[in-house]
Amino acid sequence: MGEAKRRGKAAPPHQADLITGFNDAERQALERLRMGAYRHASTAITRARTHASPEQQRDEIALVHRDAARVLDTATETFFRTSRDGPGIEKKIACRKGCSFCCWVNVEVTIIEAIGVAAAVQNDATLRAAVMTTAPKLAGLDPYARIRARVPCALLGADGGCSIYNDRPRNCRAYTSYDAKRCEDELTDPNAKREKMLVFTWPRILASAATVGLHKACDDAGLQRCTVELTDGVATILAEPNVIARWLTGEAVFKPYVPLPPARSTDVAERREGVE
Ligand code: SF4
Repeated sequence: MGEAKRRGKAAPPHQADLITGFNDAERQALERLRMGAYRHASTAITRARTHASPEQQRDEIALVHRDAARVLDTATETFFRTSRDGPGIEKKIACRKGCSFCCWVNVEVTIIEAIGVAAAVQNDATLRAAVMTTAPKLAGLDPYARIRARVPCALLGADGGCSIYNDRPRNCRAYTSYDAKRCEDELTDPNAKREKMLVFTWPRILASAATVGLHKACDDAGLQRCTVELTDGVATILAEPNVIARWLTGEAVFKPYVPLPPARSTDVAERREGVE
């Protein structure tokens, strides 16, 4: 989301730093992520097309998701260690294990991430069943209807933790809040008028850089490269393992993600750490 917003209309003053403020190290980090994701995905797509079995195809692509997630985690940790706003910036993050207010909303993922998550739940009958029973409940719901439906992510554990924590999508990794109470309010009363929500921006920009690289690899290979809703995308793969083979031939097999309606798309304000 950060990348798209930065290319949109003129940003309000508090976001100006997002457009012009990257230093050399930050620009290089973004480029490394973008190119790393692109190269790995291009190689994996080529290899996957040579495999005969759906499992091998799935696992080849799933490795791209795992690798991109690991690289994103490292880049985010580096940011928190070396932030221009000081290493203490990490202490401002309100996110904790068991806090799951952001796990009751739609999660926008790339097709490659959906394949990675499908690989992670494939051998767990409970998680597979949870995905398959949750998907119909979410079908056709826009982001606000999803919140009102009060349906948690199929992969949310009873302890409030993510059942696939090491394989969770980049949007889940990159969404880091300053204020858990504010996240709770957004979930329990999404229509209330309130101050704009503030989230850490840099992890999301890093995640967007990886997404750009993955999308370019799909474009170059002639593959459908839309984003999908997490549960819907994973359920599509679990329901028909051959769907990955069809995707690898260039067929459009996934239902594209329905984004936020424009009228609400500015309600979540992103900010650079230290920039109000
Ligand atoms: S994948 Fe994990 S972190 Fe992401 S919404 Fe689901 S339970 Fe939460």
